[in-house]
Amino acid sequence: MSGPVVVVHGGAGRVDPARLPAHVAGCGEAAEAGAAVLAGGGSALDAAQRAVEVLEANPLYNAGVGGSLTAAGTLELDALVMDGRDLRAGGVCALPPFAFPIRVARAVLEDGRHVLLAAEGAAAFAREAGFAPGGEEMITARARERLARWEAGRVGEGWAGGTVGAVAVDGAGHVAAATSTGGTVGKRPGRVGDSPIPGAGTWADDGSAACSATGIGEAILRVGLARGVCDAVAGGAAPQEAAEAAVAMLQERVGGDGGLILVAPDGRVGVARNTATMSHAVARPGEPAWTGS
Ligand code: ASP
Repeated sequence: MSGPVVVVHGGAGRVDPARLPAHVAGCGEAAEAGAAVLAGGGSALDAAQRAVEVLEANPLYNAGVGGSLTAAGTLELDALVMDGRDLRAGGVCALPPFAFPIRVARAVLEDGRHVLLAAEGAAAFAREAGFAPGGEEMITARARERLARWEAGRVGEGWAGGTVGAVAVDGAGHVAAATSTGGTVGKRPGRVGDSPIPGAGTWADDGSAACSATGIGEAILRVGLARGVCDAVAGGAAPQEAAEAAVAMLQERVGGDGGLILVAPDGRVGVARNTATMSHAVARPGEPAWTGS
């Protein structure tokens, strides 16, 4: 399969079976929303951003409303968008609550002065750009429960997946990537994961591919996962083969749990994980999404 496409993930982890159908269906809706942008002549960048917005608005996922809480019980959000046409990127990290961090990231990209803004500085930028800060309504009961379980020492149950990401190819063969997350449950305030770091959790280059990664951010950061897997595609690997090799390498080199979605400029797709689940969906304009976990 080739041509314009949107691929979405809803986070590597272990989503319990009762919630999994809705978790997967949400990815399908997001991928179709992104594909509709492509069908309307929109760019890969617009399509990837749109898909992530749909997931940020859904409290099932660890992004935007419903994001994971820090050890202090606060929301600190990470997000990045990257345009494969010219390698422009915009991101925010440790951002206090805003409903759509990916929109703030896009505004950073369009502003063009910086690539990544952090914490209060990022919030000041967002307010100046016209975004209204979120409040307590962005902290869900489920997020509080996850933090309570983490505090009780059941760490494995705390990291249940839910970071969101999208990659897209448009009709002109341009690629883009977007990732958004609340990070890991119970993280130390100020901790920044892989998602908003170009080359780690997110990467897009028309000369290679576009990738959004998910999993334990510290491991993904150390291996530069997203850039590495895209370079493998540029080197001739098929996207699926490259995705599987990169996730295997993540485990072998640094013991990392995670997964990734990948798309080449010709529309070939790669999806891989070494976790129990990673909800995902693939949508092409005018076709229903194909979903999996
Ligand atoms: N990679 C994200 C982080 O470490 C978490 C995740 O993907 O679930 O912030």
